[in-house]
Amino acid sequence: MQARQNQANRITLIILAAVVLAVGAAALFLNQENAPVAASREVRVYLDGVLYATGHLGQKEDIVVHNADGEENVISFTENGVYMKSATCHNQLCVNQGLLTDENFRTRFYRNEIICLPNRVTVEMVLTDDEAADIPDV
Ligand SMILES: [Zn+2]
Repeated sequence: MQARQNQANRITLIILAAVVLAVGAAALFLNQENAPVAASREVRVYLDGVLYATGHLGQKEDIVVHNADGEENVISFTENGVYMKSATCHNQLCVNQGLLTDENFRTRFYRNEIICLPNRVTVEMVLTDDEAADIPDV
């Protein structure tokens, strides 16, 4: 009787250990799913609403856009951000929009975009579905 109870206890312990391990593994997996995407976050550059080039935060090379009118926009990157380094547009609003980062996009006027209306260039920092859903409508 005593022996059988000990065995039952041992089986219960093994099942408990298995459950704890499974929960731990699941938690680890979920953690990876939610890992920050900052370093590799994708940036898309559009000209006239058409995808012109793609890049990512932290990249060393600038992206230079030439539109049909001979205008030029230079897009540059930091470790966790992207900005319009220079533009031939007359109002320089795009340059003045400053640095867009994976930290400040929720509070910027143009959210996760840098827009040059005169040259018809849009820079978009790609968000996850969760982040996009998070952003309140303007
Ligand atoms: Zn501009």
